[in-house]
Amino acid sequence: MDTINKKNNPVYSNTDTSKVNLKEEEWKKVLPEDVYNIARLKGTERPWSSKYESFNEKGTYYCAACGNALFKSDTKFESGCGWPSFYEPISKTSIINTPDHSHGMTRTEVQCGRCKAHLGHVFNDGPPPTGLRYCINGVILDFEKAKDAEKKYNEENKDKPVK
Ligand SMILES: [Zn+2]
Repeated sequence: MDTINKKNNPVYSNTDTSKVNLKEEEWKKVLPEDVYNIARLKGTERPWSSKYESFNEKGTYYCAACGNALFKSDTKFESGCGWPSFYEPISKTSIINTPDHSHGMTRTEVQCGRCKAHLGHVFNDGPPPTGLRYCINGVILDFEKAKDAEKKYNEENKDKPVK
């Protein structure tokens, strides 16, 4: 119940943080085609095509290729750019920033810190406190609702007297 299970993907885990190093042909076998195109071929989904673009549930976003935790819903914001946007990754090691000079532009590519899947790009026009906008392809995100964590919090606090 705690983890998202993926059939045919032996490296997928929400808890294992060891680096994943698969050959391209192995990735091709374990990933759905749309995820493979973005994760490994650095594709970009059409803007406004992701169900996570305007999506405000509380929870955690994971890498759809390997299950690595990437972003928390409270760092997600409406950027209006057409892709799910966050101002801060879940931890310093959850993502990798790489200079990207493709398509005649100088940008910073964002990759998964565990499996190096292409996630999107980071820009300097985000909101405080970081001023960053992580513009991420929704296809490469798995979302898990924070209901278990919330339930636990409510149970712990329900008997406390209100002062
Ligand atoms: Zn990953």
